[in-house]
Amino acid sequence: MLDFASETLLLDGATGSELERRGVDISLPLWSANAIINAPGVLGEVHKAYLDAGAQAITTNTFRTHHRSLAKAGMGAHAIGLTNAAVDIAQRARDETNPRAMVFGSVAPLEDCYSPHLAPDEVTCREEHTQLITSLVESSVDMVLIETMCSMREVRAAVAAAQEVAPGRWGISFCLSPGGTLLDGTGLSVIADVVSGAQCVGVNCVGASMLGDHVRSLRAALGTEMRIAAYGNVGFADAHGAWVSTDAVEPERFADYAMQWIDAGANIIGGCCGTTPATIAAMRHRIDNAGNAR
Ligand SMILES: [Zn+2]
Repeated sequence: MLDFASETLLLDGATGSELERRGVDISLPLWSANAIINAPGVLGEVHKAYLDAGAQAITTNTFRTHHRSLAKAGMGAHAIGLTNAAVDIAQRARDETNPRAMVFGSVAPLEDCYSPHLAPDEVTCREEHTQLITSLVESSVDMVLIETMCSMREVRAAVAAAQEVAPGRWGISFCLSPGGTLLDGTGLSVIADVVSGAQCVGVNCVGASMLGDHVRSLRAALGTEMRIAAYGNVGFADAHGAWVSTDAVEPERFADYAMQWIDAGANIIGGCCGTTPATIAAMRHRIDNAGNAR
């Protein structure tokens, strides 16, 4: 069992957009995996900046280190090596900055994030997620965090892989539609049935202003015992896939939304696309002040 029983656990913020903000090329096909190869120092600095801002857990830059993703750049053979390297960079940053912090191993959808129809068949998903999760476990991450999931067949496969190779040390987070279903239309009651054994269940990569409602629905579907994670974006992708920034780009405003997630039942909060160490620092400040007020 992981040691995060305390009231609210603060995660880190975005890695990909923060690398880009610091001048690292995150163009496809490598996307954020490029930093492991060409800018490991900057990647370490990003992790440290989040820890300095008060994050109690950081997430490895393994969002795009599946064999499938790296193969698109002709680097499939390096999947295990790059996954291990990314975990090592995060663990070193943790050891040097806050040894009590946790390192979560990120597992992303195999294909494009907001495109459930692109998810491979369930057997393929199971095989490929098992490979990445095995590497993360062998690198001693504190928890495997399956995130931004939007397709039910991929959810089933990733959960089965995690139950098999990371029992008792995995969590899962979903990208939900404005209507509160998975992007493939699956309802939360179906999701609730497949997440047994998870250390946490969450919602991420949706606009910060929409997350409170999602957390409330998730809490209703999962009951009172499950830890719920919420980490939103500073904006959202519109129906045409174009990015729309909202007032959540302002760290204090983002922190306002995060307090709403806690009120709705979230135990774990953090930031997804577009958030920065300043966002996490603002959230840290609010959490600490709320604790003092009690
Ligand atoms: Zn995101």
